[in-house]
Amino acid sequence: TPKVGVLALQGDVREHFAALSAAGAEVSAVRRPEELADADALVLPGGESTTMSKLAIAFGLMEPLRERVHAGMPAYGSCAGMIMLADKILDPRSGQETVGGIDMIVRRNAFGRQNESFEAPLEVRGVEGGPVEGVFIRAPWVESTGARAEALAVYDGHPVAVRQGRLLATSFHPELTGDHRVHALFVDMVRDALD
Ligand code: GLN
Repeated sequence: TPKVGVLALQGDVREHFAALSAAGAEVSAVRRPEELADADALVLPGGESTTMSKLAIAFGLMEPLRERVHAGMPAYGSCAGMIMLADKILDPRSGQETVGGIDMIVRRNAFGRQNESFEAPLEVRGVEGGPVEGVFIRAPWVESTGARAEALAVYDGHPVAVRQGRLLATSFHPELTGDHRVHALFVDMVRDALD
C-alpha cells in the first residue's frame, strides 16, 4: 500500500485524508522533516499559499520538500497546493516562496471577484467515467506552462489541471466533492513510481 503524506501545516488536510484513504492509500500527516522522510508521496492541500509557504519555512520543511520533489517523489497539490508546486508565481506576496517542480507560472486568485468561487464540470485527461465537478475557491489558474508540463484540463482557456512526470496539480478541489477519481489517478502515479 502506498504511503501518502498530507502536508498538515494549514488548509483542508482532513478532506484529503478521506479522499486518499478511499483511493486506497495509507495516509499520514506531515509537519516535520522526519514525517516527510517516511512518506512515499505527498499531497499539498488547499488553503492559503502565503501562509503555507511561511509555515513550511518556519517548520524547516521547505528545503526537505524541494529535495524530495527534485529527487522524484510524487506530489499532488490542489489550489494553494498547486501554487506551492509551481516554479513561479506571477504575483507572489512578499516572503512567499514555492517548493516548485512543475514548469509553470500561476496567477493567484485569478478568476476575479464576482467569480471567486464557482463550480464547473471538467473533462480531465486520465480520469475516466465522465466529467469531474470542479470546485474553484479563490483559485489560481495557470498562466503558462513549459514544454515538460502537460495540461490535463482547461477552463476558460486556462489550464486548471497540470501534470509533469510524477507531479500533479489542480486549481480546483476534488477533495471537497466525494468523487475520488483524481486522488485515485494520483495514487496510481504513486504505485507506478514505487514499481
Ligand atoms: N487563494 C488561495 C491562495 O492564494 C488559494 C485558495 C484555495 O486553496 N482554495 O493560496
